[in-house]
This record gives sequence, C-alpha cells and structure tokens, in this order.
Amino acid sequence: MGDIKPIHYKIHLEPDLKKFHFTGKVELILEVPSPASEVSLNILELAIWRCGLTGQGQSEACSFSVDPRQEEMKIVFPRPVSGEVCLIIDYVGEINNRMAGFYRSRYVRDGKEKYAAVTQFEESDARRAFPCFDHPAMKATFEVEMIIDGDLTAISNTDIAEEKPMEDGRKLVRFERTPRMSTYLVFFGVGEFEFIQDPGEVLIRVAAVPGKAQQGKYSLEFLRKALTFCEEYYGIQYPLSKLDLIAIADFAFGAMENWGAITFRENLVLHEPDKISKAGEERMCVVIAHELAHQWFGNLVTPEDWKYLWLNESFATYFGYRVVDHYYPEWDVWEQFLQGQTQVALDRDALHETFSIEIPGGDHVVINASTAPIIYNKGGSVLRQVEGYVGKEAFREGLRLYLRKYQYLCASSRDLWDALEAVSAKPVSKMMSNWVGQPGFPMVSVEREGDNLRMNQRRFTYLDAPSDQEWLIPVSVRVFYGDGRSKETTTLLDSKSALLDIGAGAVAYKLNDGQSGFYRVQYRDEANLKELGELIANGRLPPVDRWGIQDDLYAMVKRGDARMQEYLEFLAHYVEENVSLPLSGIAANLHHAFIVQQGISRKKVASVGRAFFERVLENIGYEPGPQDRHTTSILRDQLLWHAALYGSVKAEEFCMSQFSLLLKEQKVHPNIQKSVMQVGAACGGRDTFEWFVGKIKSSESEHERMNMLIAMGCFKDGKVLERVKRYVLEEVPDRNKAIPIGIMSENPAAIPSLWDWFQANLQAIERFHPVLYERVIAALVPICGLGREEEVRSFFQEYMRKQEKLKDVVKLSLEKLEVHSRMRRARKTSLQDERISGLLH
Ligand SMILES: [Zn+2]
Repeated sequence: MGDIKPIHYKIHLEPDLKKFHFTGKVELILEVPSPASEVSLNILELAIWRCGLTGQGQSEACSFSVDPRQEEMKIVFPRPVSGEVCLIIDYVGEINNRMAGFYRSRYVRDGKEKYAAVTQFEESDARRAFPCFDHPAMKATFEVEMIIDGDLTAISNTDIAEEKPMEDGRKLVRFERTPRMSTYLVFFGVGEFEFIQDPGEVLIRVAAVPGKAQQGKYSLEFLRKALTFCEEYYGIQYPLSKLDLIAIADFAFGAMENWGAITFRENLVLHEPDKISKAGEERMCVVIAHELAHQWFGNLVTPEDWKYLWLNESFATYFGYRVVDHYYPEWDVWEQFLQGQTQVALDRDALHETFSIEIPGGDHVVINASTAPIIYNKGGSVLRQVEGYVGKEAFREGLRLYLRKYQYLCASSRDLWDALEAVSAKPVSKMMSNWVGQPGFPMVSVEREGDNLRMNQRRFTYLDAPSDQEWLIPVSVRVFYGDGRSKETTTLLDSKSALLDIGAGAVAYKLNDGQSGFYRVQYRDEANLKELGELIANGRLPPVDRWGIQDDLYAMVKRGDARMQEYLEFLAHYVEENVSLPLSGIAANLHHAFIVQQGISRKKVASVGRAFFERVLENIGYEPGPQDRHTTSILRDQLLWHAALYGSVKAEEFCMSQFSLLLKEQKVHPNIQKSVMQVGAACGGRDTFEWFVGKIKSSESEHERMNMLIAMGCFKDGKVLERVKRYVLEEVPDRNKAIPIGIMSENPAAIPSLWDWFQANLQAIERFHPVLYERVIAALVPICGLGREEEVRSFFQEYMRKQEKLKDVVKLSLEKLEVHSRMRRARKTSLQDERISGLLH
C-alpha cells in the first residue's frame, strides 16, 4: 500500500433486516504523499459496483479488480494522483449469520422470531462491512450514517448528530465524527434497542432488546464506578461524550471493546437477581472492567501491529481484576486471579507448542484457544510481576506517561518499557524482554546446601527436552526458623544456578512467597516439603502459598517428576483447610486426575475427593447462607457437583431434593442452581432431558440457559447422551454449541463415544464459528483421544493438510494428549510398585 494513508471515512449504510443484505457507500479521504497510480484496500465478501475519484465537483471512474484470496481490491486511478484524494466506493453486502463482520443476531420476542444487525470486527473483519485499510496502525476518523426503518434504533461509536425522517417512512441517522481510531473498533448496529441510562459528564447507557434493558441496572451502576476509577488511575478523561454497553443475543465471544459501544453476550451485562450466582456477578464486573480498560489500552493507544496485541489484552485482564478489587475487596479477586488466570497460563505455557507473549509474525493473529491463555492470562500475570518489581507508584506513573505520550497513536512493547524505566530507574527492558519475547517460563529447583539454598533454573515443560533458555527471575523466599520466626528474602536469579544465604537455624523455606512470580518451584529436599506440609496443617502459611505448594506439586506429577500417590498423600496436610483458594485449586487438580485416570486409579482419586469435600461441605454447609463469604458461595457450587461426581450420597441427596423443587417450578438459591442441575442431569433420564429442553426454550435468561447447557453435558444415561449430542447440533444456537460438548469431554460416561461422534459429524462441527470449533478440538482431543492415540494422531495428520489454520490448536491438543497418556502409564508402573511392596510386607 506504499505510504498512502487513510484520513477519514464517511460510511453510509442502508441495511435491510428482512432480506439480510445492505447497500453501502464509502467516501474515503486518503493522504497520498507522492504521485501514485493505484491503491489496495481490504475487502471480503462485498460486491463492489462502482468506484470513483472525486474532487472539485467532478467525479472520474476508477477501474478496479478484486483478489478474494488476498482479501483485497486494487483500485487504479485514472491518472497518477497525490495530496489529499477522495475515493467513493458503492457496494452491497450480506448481513451474514456467522457472528463476524456485519451480522444478524436472532432473538425471540412475544413468541416471534426477530433480528438485529450488529458488527464484530476484531481482528480483521471490518473488511466484511466496508472497504478499508484493515490494520490497527491505519488510524483515521469515521463518520457513520444509516438509513433504517422508522421504528428501529441505530447505535454507533459516538452520539447521534442528526436524525431526520425520510419520505418513504424510513429515517436517516447520522453519528458524530469519531476520534482517530482503528477499523477493528468501529461499531454500528440497528434493531429494536431499548435503553436505560445514567447521565453524568459522560452519558452511560445499557442497550438491550425490548423488555430487557431494566436488567442492565447492575452493570450500569458498576460501570459508573469503574469509569471513575479508570479516569483517576490513568489520569486521562474518557474522550467520548457517551459510552454504551450493548447486550447482543448472538455473540461469539464474551464482549468486545468497540470505542463507546461495547458489545456483550447477554449473560455478561444483564442481571436477574433470582437467576444469577455470585460467580456470575463477579464475572460480569470483571468483564465490564476489562472492556472499559480497553478504552485506554487499545482504543486510545493501539498496538502498532497485532504482534503487540498483548498491550491490549494483558492490561485489560490485569485491570479487570484491579478495578473489581478496588470496589469489592471482600470478594478476594486477586486470590481468584491465581486460579483463574495464572494457573491456566502456567498450564498452557508448559507445552512445547507455545509462543511468546509478543506473538512472532503477528500478521494474522487470532484470539483463540491457543493464543488467549498466553496474551490474556500469562500477560496479565507477568504484569503483576512487573508491578511487584517496580512498585505500585512507579507502575502507575509509568502507565500514565505511556498513555499520555501515545494517545490517538500506536505503540510497541519497547515504548511501554521505556516509560516504566523512565519513572522507576530500574532495568525494566532487560527484565521484561525475556518474559515477553521468549516462549515458556522457568522452573526453579531448590535444595539446601548448609546454610544456603542452591537454586537452579531451567525451562518448565511437561514433556522434558533440552533447553538453554534463561530468565531474569525475581525470586522471593520466605524462610522459617526454629523459634517460630519467619523472614522474607528477595533476589534476582540471573544465571542458571545461584546460592542464597538463608542463615543458620532455618527449618523450612517457601519459594515464590505470595505467589506473584510466574514460575514453578521444585523442592528437591523431601524434608523441606514435609516441613511445609506441617506449616500448611498448622495454618502458618497464607492461603496463596498453601494454594501454590500443592499446585506446583501437581505440576510435577504432570511432568512425571512426582507420583500421583505423593500428591494425594500430601493433601492430608489440608485436612483442616477452610479457605476457598487452596480448596478450589485442589478441586481442579483432583478433577483433572479423575478424568485422566481410569479403573482403580480413578476410583482412588474419587475416594480421596469424596471424603475431602464431604468434610468441607459439612463445614461450610450444603445450603447457601446469608453470612457466606463471596468465595464460599462460588466454592460450594463447585464442590457439590464434584462431591456428587465422586459418589457422595449426601451431596447427591441434597442436590436431588433441590432439583425436585426446580421440577415443581419452585425456587432454588441462584448460588447452587448450576450444581443442582448438573446432579439432576447426572441422575436423570429421558424425562429430565425433555424438561431441560422445554425449560431452555421458554427461558429468557442467557445465564440460566448456559447453566442448563452445562447440566446437559452431565447425563450418565447413554441413550440420553445420544439425544443431547443430536440436540446440540440441531437446536442449540451456534454461540452456545461448544458449551455442552466441552462438558461432555469431562464426563466419564460420555468420553468413550465422543471421538467417534466428532468424526461422524465433522462437517456439521466444522461449520461452527472458527473460535468455537477450535474450542471443541481443544476440549475433546486431550481426553477423548486417550487409549486411541495413534488413530487420533493419524487422523489429524491427514486433516491438517486441508485445515492449515487449525495447526496451533491441533498441535497443542495432541501434546496435551501425550502428557495425559504418560500420566496413565505412570500410574500403571506405580501400581506394580505397590503390589511388589505389598508382597514384601
Ligand atoms: Zn480484551
């Protein structure tokens, strides 16, 4: 495209919601620095019927050609042009049903099928709605106008500048000019929207289909708080005069940060008090805060290339939690960050099939099951590590400097490091480049050498392989002494191996004190691990460290450095545990072990889990209570299901008594509705399935529908499971198809037949939204491929020849399958050990 740049787009659209197509006209002002005879724009699935050059009241036709493979149209000017040039392009397009570009969103109102037309452009789908320079660095201003039916409402990034009726009963709606921004952040939508609003200095609103806007009150109130926090923290006012949260019925992702017009799945912005759980409320707030942070990180300062997408997503992830913690400290969201973000990132990044946070190549990056845990979860976790390193004040000042300097422009990682370095006077670039610029993360192995600790670092991968990678690791160690004291020591581990003096009289030591570092710890002294166990049992370690020790140990089991039996035995130290974070960490690891293992190994995990969680449930109570901590409410819903899954009669009886209330249309507390329905399905048959089908059809709540789809994945009855699978393909809307499939791939009754079902229905499953199709592969292959590894591998070898885009997700799924296969084999060996030792006794 040379140096030609866009300056301004005027976009005129006439959508037809009955025929699902639209006509469009773009007037694009270009800056052409030196005489040029042609220019290329991105387009996809648009039919261009006229293209011309205008100026001084005249219009000249341009010839053009379209290359669908490159997603480009080449425009040839009638003569070489330079300076400011205006192109006019007329075209038509389809309002598609693929949840990308300009698409239709279906909903039912008063028993009638209705549609809205909305946009989703990130990363590269603006080209499906208008010809453009579809790259984040190609910023321009935008002016959108739409001609729509008189009884409909249009929404775009900015406020309405003018609305006037037309003679044919339609109306023209013209929006204010936007600031300089990237194409992927443009939004326009038309439908029967209804609003609630809070007029402040910035007008904030929630938009939804008629009858639902009132459910946006909770979000609106939280948005006002979050906006206050962000403006204060970043030191830059939100620049537009309005900000909408728009509930969209059909939406492939969770939410999208379009400037001034943030779109959401309905369950993440609409709130019905008797349907939504504490976990659901927290997720709403975290997502709203995440999308709001993007209004600065992404919208105001934009990555100069997709390679730096982490500058958007890592910050939005981090501030999603930071803002919620500010207003609801009693929710303990930083603790949950460890299990929900850091743990997921450590697990994902422990594969060889991974990449750096700064994505190599970067041209065609998509956010999917492969990339999201790295650029969101790992990126957010590494930012916590940076904040720990430079200090809270310097972190904030550095971010303010960075945002001020690059507002309305683009930036790269380097620009951020420079800002942090300028305010902290610490070598941030050196420290961060090896966390952001190389794949994977380290494991620190530690053992005693007299009064010193010997620490060695190497890359942590589940499947071992030689590696000479190194990191600059800020290591914090808490040392415990015989007299009951403890002391924290920090050091920067900047070589493969180092000694740390901990003085005389130490009885135990814990690395990664407070768990703010992104690395695994391997304790080579069995005696130390035993002492740590005692400290856990006596409650002398904080919850985050109790969580971290068992999680590192389980990672060693997955790596083959420790046996499952050791992990299960170590859990004895947690018998008095009553804090949610360690308990939910243990629950997640036991659940993983339960699914991967089989036969008596699985039974053993179940028996440990059953005893463990029955005790916890006795402690916290099976019934939700008014005094419950926020995290206890979330934990109970998880443990009721796990305990029942592991054969707890008490948990099952309790849930079934609650489920019978649901069947009688009576109320069940929203904080346990999910587990109650899961157990209801697991114990139910055909009638229960029919009940779910009817209930999903009549439910108006997306939160409730999603819970029921989760429950549907939990049936044990083989015949019913066949019906569930048919129902998923035939009845469930695209946006939710991956939910029950993901749950079935964790259901021992469903696992054995899922791989055959996947192959038999491949064509239908391939038609899912690409991100959701990848999610299905990532859920299914690592578990359902167990026992038929060769078959699965050779299937994908063949399949990937025609599905090149799936390469990353397939490779990581096959690697996870290998890790799981090894875990099963290791169990066989250790069982033989037990038999031998049994003979000796
Ligand atoms: Zn985001």
